[in-house]
Amino acid sequence: MRTHARAVVIGGGVVGASVLYHLTKRGWTDVMLIERSELTSGSTWHAAGGMHTVNGDPNVAKLQAYTINLYKEIEAISGQSCSIHMTGGIMLAGSPERHDFLKMMRSRARYLGLDMEMISVDEAAKMFPLMDKSHFVGALYNSLEGHVDPTGVTNAYAKSARIAGAEVVRFNRVVETNQRPDGSWDVVTEKGTIHAEHVINAGGLWAREVGRMAGLELPVMAMEHHYIITEDIPEVLASPKEQLHVIDFDGEIYMRQEGKGGMLIGTYERAGVPWSERQTPWNFGHELLPNDLERIAPSLEVGFSHYPALGRAGIKKVINGPFTFTPDGNPLVGPVRGLKNYWVACGVMAGLSQGGGVGLSLSNWMVDGDPGADIWGMDVARYGDWTSMAYTNAKVRENYSRRWRVRFPNEELPAARKLKTTPIYDSLAAKGAVFGASYGLEYATWFAPSGTDQNENWGFERTNAFAPMLAEVKNVRDNVGLMEISTYAKYEVTGSGAEAFLSRVLAGRMPKTGRIALNPMLNEQGKIIGDFTVAKPADNCFFLIGAGVAEHYHMRWFEQHMPPTGVAIRAFGAELVGLTIAGPKSRDVLGSLVADDLSTAAFPFLSIRRMEVGLIPALVARISFTGDLGYELWVKPEHQRALFEALLAAGQPYGIGLFGARALNAMRLEKGYGSWAREYRPIYTPREAGMDRLIAMTKGSFIGRDAMMRLSNETPAMSLLNFAVDANGADAFGDEPILHGGKVAGWVTSGGYSPTAQQSIAMGYVFSEFTDKDEGFAIEIVGENRAAHRLRQPLFDPEGTRLRA
Ligand SMILES: Cc1cc2nc3c(=O)[nH]c(=O)nc-3n(C[C@H](O)[C@H](O)[C@H](O)COP(=O)(O)OP(=O)(O)OC[C@H]3O[C@@H](n4cnc5c(N)ncnc54)[C@H](O)[C@@H]3O)c2cc1C
Repeated sequence: MRTHARAVVIGGGVVGASVLYHLTKRGWTDVMLIERSELTSGSTWHAAGGMHTVNGDPNVAKLQAYTINLYKEIEAISGQSCSIHMTGGIMLAGSPERHDFLKMMRSRARYLGLDMEMISVDEAAKMFPLMDKSHFVGALYNSLEGHVDPTGVTNAYAKSARIAGAEVVRFNRVVETNQRPDGSWDVVTEKGTIHAEHVINAGGLWAREVGRMAGLELPVMAMEHHYIITEDIPEVLASPKEQLHVIDFDGEIYMRQEGKGGMLIGTYERAGVPWSERQTPWNFGHELLPNDLERIAPSLEVGFSHYPALGRAGIKKVINGPFTFTPDGNPLVGPVRGLKNYWVACGVMAGLSQGGGVGLSLSNWMVDGDPGADIWGMDVARYGDWTSMAYTNAKVRENYSRRWRVRFPNEELPAARKLKTTPIYDSLAAKGAVFGASYGLEYATWFAPSGTDQNENWGFERTNAFAPMLAEVKNVRDNVGLMEISTYAKYEVTGSGAEAFLSRVLAGRMPKTGRIALNPMLNEQGKIIGDFTVAKPADNCFFLIGAGVAEHYHMRWFEQHMPPTGVAIRAFGAELVGLTIAGPKSRDVLGSLVADDLSTAAFPFLSIRRMEVGLIPALVARISFTGDLGYELWVKPEHQRALFEALLAAGQPYGIGLFGARALNAMRLEKGYGSWAREYRPIYTPREAGMDRLIAMTKGSFIGRDAMMRLSNETPAMSLLNFAVDANGADAFGDEPILHGGKVAGWVTSGGYSPTAQQSIAMGYVFSEFTDKDEGFAIEIVGENRAAHRLRQPLFDPEGTRLRA
């Protein structure tokens, strides 16, 4: 065994083996994989081997397609069969909602270039004669589905990596990972210590335990999972073709052929059971768990009634094995904040669909410093240190039980709620707030007027939140609205080197003292990795506001780029909370509580100042994401309640009303403002996003400048455009294709409704060949093409006079 390696992968499941292979493919051949037992000895060996491109995040779906197409490559290199069965698959809808959901999946596949088509029940039954047509209303056909042999795949990865120079050590447990002062790692194993530059935790079922060796508590937990294999079925034996893969959403089951005549049926039963909730035993070997047919009986009963031939066949084998999930069901990939050269590739619930994409992006990240794709949906940094084990447990159970259920636009899920609340939570609740959770923090999405239902009737059509949202916006536009904004991320950057540091990591101008400047953050490739409001309340002191869900992600980047001395950075989290007031009368409201002159001459748009607001010391910024005259007020949590009450009382004569995040979203859309994780993601450049006016090319060196220079003579591949849409009761939400002349012209990033213009609207990226056009667009909403025309200017206050008034 080598005693030194550039990188050591801990864990020889399908994911670790893929990471090893991809590192060698990228030229890192001095790499090792350490496996406690035989390869595949976690959840991989008993996986059903199914693979498909279904994922709620289109970027993850793309990486799944990459994975599936990879298997021929590793077979060819290694000579090891992966037993690839590309059967194609159908997803069956038993309800109109599910049918709509499938139409939306097909729409998304259209712009992702994936081959999926809606088919009728009759067509589905021709492809899969075992089904009883009476239970279904339609289906989606996906050519990129099938199954492989998980052990074959893992060995093919490992062999391919070995051929390129990697070493695979089996039957050798890693017992410690100790970091040296220079950031490299001593990986202590049963057979000796390896000094490694980089460590990758691909511990699968033991990812938590491996993480704990480095002081990490990863939000991962295993659930038990059953599948059964039937005896041979005459209809299957007689069929000239292998049976398709089938996902039956309403039965919560999936199926495929096993062997010559059997069928494999897996269930995501609602009463799912976690396994080894706190600690995975090291002595768990190539083992299965006791069967619990009673638990999966409701799902099987649905299966037997939907596919009568399965009910007639005997059960040959039952498999119950554990595999890991994260709170949102997507993997944890990437560098861990604060642990130099420590990487994770775990929490992968669909290793045969996703393992290749995980290996590809992680190896790119390690070699190039960038994953090479938009993997925000899988980035380990999307969780901070607030994910307690109990939170993970509750979310994982919820996720498992909802695996095949429709998630509607804006739908909030009930598990692990009220983990984080602000001091005005109860006051908001008393006023009818309907809450959502973002990064674990409760926030008001809309306010149900007194006497109306606070439960939202989720669906693809506008819900009962629509009318209250319109009223909330109207009150902001006519009078003044009050909203809590504690979900934003807030940072303080101080020290003699603060300005130089920020000017290097951010691409815009630094504000003067007392002023605010909007600032995109770019990576070396010139792609957008953040958008910040940067304020300078005092000399050598900056206050930044960014996307709340990206706090950990952005802190990781800041910390990686900090100079050794002269700068201190702090993320406030819930230690600083905020309220905003916006609307034409907001100045009057604030003016009645402060001694400061709020006139535009004295406190213009994009100003910041410490003020006493009533009794409360606050940092007040004249800025508003509503696109209206407005202020953001930041205070310590102990002052928030007093500030809330003071603003409400002072606002009474001006008709102050509360508004929620839905109203804010409508207002930012009608103003044409983009938002992180929607319009701004690491696949877009500032020119594509229309942010180039914020880039200070002349200020000197900053991260991303060279790439911006290189790209400056090229036409942007796409541009972010705004559209008015002829919708009919259902608005675009995001991820719908934008069409022109029947061709895919781009995709929607956000959609909604402009209360001011009373118009359905959408924002999205459109390829350059279509960006000179105004008419002839269509947006596919719930399977229907809706005519759309480009908006050349925002529907609300195009000149920005309200904002600057
Ligand atoms: C019943 C069942 C059916 C499934 N069906 C499918 C399917 O159809 N399609 C699909 O895509 N997925 C399926 N899965 C999920 C799939 O099995 C997982 O996504 C996949 O196996 C995860 O692989 P991994 O490499 O992350 O983890 P694991 O397979 O758990 O591998 C981790 C490895 O790390 C090793 N290890 C851990 N700690 C150490 C240490 N300290 N030192 C050395 N080695 C260590 C372990 O021994 C293990 O071999 C199924 C799972 C189950 C249980």
